Amino acid sequence: MKLEGIHHVTAITGDAPRNLDFYSRVLGLRLVKKTVNQDDPTVYHLFYADEGGSPGADLTFFEYPGAARGRPGAGMVHRVVWRVGSADALDFWTDRLAGEGMATERAGGALRLRDPEGLEHELVVTDRDDAPLIADHPEVPAEMALQGFDAVRAYSADPAASRRLLEEGLGFTGAGDGAWEARGEQRGGVIAYDEPPADPGRPGAGTVHHVAWASTMDDHPAWRARARAGGARPTEVIDRFWFRSIYFAEPSGVLFEIASMGPGFATDEDPEHLGEKLVLPPRYEPMRNRIEATLAPLADPRGRAHEG
Ligand code: ZN
Repeated sequence: MKLEGIHHVTAITGDAPRNLDFYSRVLGLRLVKKTVNQDDPTVYHLFYADEGGSPGADLTFFEYPGAARGRPGAGMVHRVVWRVGSADALDFWTDRLAGEGMATERAGGALRLRDPEGLEHELVVTDRDDAPLIADHPEVPAEMALQGFDAVRAYSADPAASRRLLEEGLGFTGAGDGAWEARGEQRGGVIAYDEPPADPGRPGAGTVHHVAWASTMDDHPAWRARARAGGARPTEVIDRFWFRSIYFAEPSGVLFEIASMGPGFATDEDPEHLGEKLVLPPRYEPMRNRIEATLAPLADPRGRAHEG
């Protein structure tokens, strides 16, 4: 039983319209689900991914309108690492982001950038055989597109404390230098730990809330016992409609989720029209009028681009 790399990464935004503009129009991801936080239906939960809404390429945001900027500290993911196909893609993204007035930074063979609220991303040229998970975008050629997650980097003063849970509980293998990889039959993904800054972290806009690791549907019920055997204290299985989830903090403090790779985002929407309408969890459907009145309308710029 192996985890199939990263399932999704969930972060916080204080400004859903600007967040949508950046991730859909600029970075070229597809908005695959527009819904509300299942624990607080007055705020958006936006899901971006590849064209198919696949685990492995799914970046999601809780919106807390007007939320203050956070900053990552010990026990928090501070960087999301994506794969691209070639060094040409790094040049493409350098130019495209410069065209938006956004600074980027070359670091070794990678390109670092920040979203409008400071969340850090890194693009790395992949040498993996994993299927590229890309979205269609009129201004982003397929060979330049983001191909899904490679890794998350988190801050930890003592990464060795996480070893037992990662290796014995969750089946990760050491990838050297404070990094561990979860690799299944289809995909792999890495968590790497860096020395934390002196200042403590502060959750808020532009920070990562949790990272989810992907499990096959069949294996998912068994991961709870495996996490417990590794010393974690997982929640019960929670039905998130598009996947099932358990949550627990790993010893360095990073909030982990293990999410099933189905039933997927097309379970309640036409795959051709994912993310176009506000989808509500069934128990909130009777309150739709009130919920829609509290949410600022969101127009997907990619939707308009495709119409034109
Ligand atoms: Zn999640």
